[in-house]
Amino acid sequence: MKAFKYLSPTTVEEAIALHGQHSETAKYIAGGTDVIVKLKEGWMEPDYLISLKKIEEMSELHKNDATGELSIGALVTHATLEKSLMIQNEYPIIYDAVSNIGSLQVRNVGTIGGNLINAVPSADGAIPLIALDGVALLHGPEGERSIEVKDLFVQPYKTVLKPREILKKVTIPPQTSHTGSAYIKFGRRAAMELPLIGIGVLLTVNDDLVTCAKARICLGVAAPTPMRAFDAESLLVGKKIDEKILIEAGKIAADESKVRDSVRGKAWHRKEMIRVMVRRMGLKCLQIIRNNS
Ligand SMILES: Cc1cc2nc3c(=O)[nH]c(=O)nc-3n(C[C@H](O)[C@H](O)[C@H](O)COP(=O)(O)OP(=O)(O)OC[C@H]3O[C@@H](n4cnc5c(N)ncnc54)[C@H](O)[C@@H]3O)c2cc1C
Repeated sequence: MKAFKYLSPTTVEEAIALHGQHSETAKYIAGGTDVIVKLKEGWMEPDYLISLKKIEEMSELHKNDATGELSIGALVTHATLEKSLMIQNEYPIIYDAVSNIGSLQVRNVGTIGGNLINAVPSADGAIPLIALDGVALLHGPEGERSIEVKDLFVQPYKTVLKPREILKKVTIPPQTSHTGSAYIKFGRRAAMELPLIGIGVLLTVNDDLVTCAKARICLGVAAPTPMRAFDAESLLVGKKIDEKILIEAGKIAADESKVRDSVRGKAWHRKEMIRVMVRRMGLKCLQIIRNNS
């Protein structure tokens, strides 16, 4: 591994300024679970690593009781989310996703921000944040801007972030009552495995507890970037949700996906899993809604 200098700024502004001084040869690092692998393999050779870990405001996990908005700092680790009772009880789709990432060691240091910005199609953390209509707050040399998490990704390993921009946090708008959400990572093994396919479903129903007011069907490893199955979502909105319509939504989502063969799995198998798991996650959402009503 090539030698590098390690810098530890304590504010976002300082980090951006340091990156500016060493532009072409600097790289941000958070938990390092992706960066260190790339350094060791020689896929990147920065002269400077700029650690974001000492920027305290980026480690905050906070729900505003007055507005209901959830704020997840980019440095919040998967383990912090997994252990949070608030996440377990109110945002099960986040819990489902982060509690199956890598191993305990990976979850202890890997951050939600690093998971998003690494931008692989299999990023488990991306799916729940898209389903929950998350908004990413970015900070760069020209100041702050916001972008929906669903619009962050351009292609594998590439996001819309401009040079030197930092992801500060993701905010989740308040959830409507009668909402249920669930995620499943389908892989060949239970642990230390990237998903063959990742499926997240979020449903909100009206007071009658059956008519769909909002639907989100989000897929990982189904396209070059995490995606929403918009046609399948549209099918559900305004309709009474039961197993039959969820089976139909699963078929549409599978058709909308752009799955392909890879070393880890075949396209036909991925499609089949989307078909089956959309129904299964939809039913789980309904169960959660009914249990909480
Ligand atoms: C053994 C192993 C198993 C894994 N299993 C899984 C898995 O099951 N599911 C899964 O989704 N991932 C998995 N990963 C990938 C990885 O752990 C996650 O993507 C993790 O969340 C990355 O976070 P990090 O803080 O370690 O990122 P880092 O490695 O520090 O950074 C990743 C990238 O994001 C950039 N970056 C980080 N934070 C910011 C920020 N705030 N603003 C701007 N740029 C930033 C860095 O410059 C770098 O390009 C695994 C990795 C390993 C090594």
